[in-house]
Amino acid sequence: MLVLVTGGTGFIGSHTCVELLNSGYEVIILDNLVNSKREVVDRIAQITGKRPLFYEADATDETAVDLIFSTHPIDGVIHFAGLKAVGESVQMPLAYYKNNLLSTIVLMENCVKYGVQRFVFSSSATVYGENQVPFVETMELRPRTNPYGETKAMCERILTDAASIHPELSVSLLRYFNPVGAHESGLIGEAPQGIPNNLMPYITQVAKGILPELQVFGNDYPTPDGTGVRDYIHVVDLAEGHLAALEQVGPGVHIYNLGTGRGTSVLELISAFEEANSIRIPYRIVGRRPGDVAECYADVSKAHAELGWTAKRGVYEMCRDAWRFEKNQG
Ligand code: NAD
Ligand code: UDP
Repeated sequence: MLVLVTGGTGFIGSHTCVELLNSGYEVIILDNLVNSKREVVDRIAQITGKRPLFYEADATDETAVDLIFSTHPIDGVIHFAGLKAVGESVQMPLAYYKNNLLSTIVLMENCVKYGVQRFVFSSSATVYGENQVPFVETMELRPRTNPYGETKAMCERILTDAASIHPELSVSLLRYFNPVGAHESGLIGEAPQGIPNNLMPYITQVAKGILPELQVFGNDYPTPDGTGVRDYIHVVDLAEGHLAALEQVGPGVHIYNLGTGRGTSVLELISAFEEANSIRIPYRIVGRRPGDVAECYADVSKAHAELGWTAKRGVYEMCRDAWRFEKNQG
């Protein structure tokens, strides 16, 4: 089975390529390298002993995408390619809508044209917005008021509408919670450009001495220790969830939360990191970050019941593997 992985040199995409190749799939990566490096292809080959085909191309480029579909007998698409920085999306809304929506439309058009029936889409827990935790797939969506979250909700809608008139399509909308960690080889992981926005890469950069201290955004939330609670999921567990969706989902639209179902506070994550790696993380409590919710965690029963998938790795492994990757970075 041949799978086209857009955004395959990115954080989650690269780990999914490893799992696909290790499970006997053939992989084509399409990535424009706007937020990743070509060397990741070598790393994937080093880990798996198999080299995926790589196209440096833009998923919004109709000609380039059509050429890939017309050249290769693709069986399924996993669409990771997208811009994902919430703050940047507020500053550059048109770029976010154009990139994230157009890439999804162009890929789905080609699936219809070339008879590719399996489509897996990277959605996000951000589409639940201010709903009550734990988030369940049946909840009405309330995307947070930023263009990034809106693009995810809109893409879900676009794909759902397309599937309704193409009943042969099998579309999985995977709502990720907070992916962290790295492959145990330490060869691939999350390598954000500039100062990280997300908690785990910020912690690893403080651990390395690149940044002096962590700022904890608020300790007055209605949570057990007052800091924000999230459902962190090891990126390898997340990657495995994609294989489960690709293999087990039949025709129609299927929505799955991919998380652990457990909430961890900012202070708990700091403690877990310190314990797992025997490193102290200096931190300071500052004000809340605008737009943050107090708690975000998944009800994961649907993915377990229908896909037989459950996240296996805990916070300790997430911290250990994230740090191993960071240490390996130049
Ligand atoms: P990433 O930035 O590491 O990977 C995305 C990849 O897509 C990058 O390699 C980038 O170069 C590529 N890309 C972007 N636009 C492209 C385009 N038009 N054409 C071709 N390639 C393009 O991000 P990630 O963390 O691996 O996220 C993957 C997907 O999962 C994204 O759609 C993201 O919105 C979604 N997601 C991520 C998180 C998270 O916390 N990391 C949470 C929920 C959802
Ligand atoms: N956070 C923090 N300091 C940072 C980055 C994040 O205290 O430098 C907190 C943030 O307020 C939230 C949690 O860590 O409660 C996870 O934030 P992240 O940006 O990683 O993910 P989000 O769930 O916001 O997408």
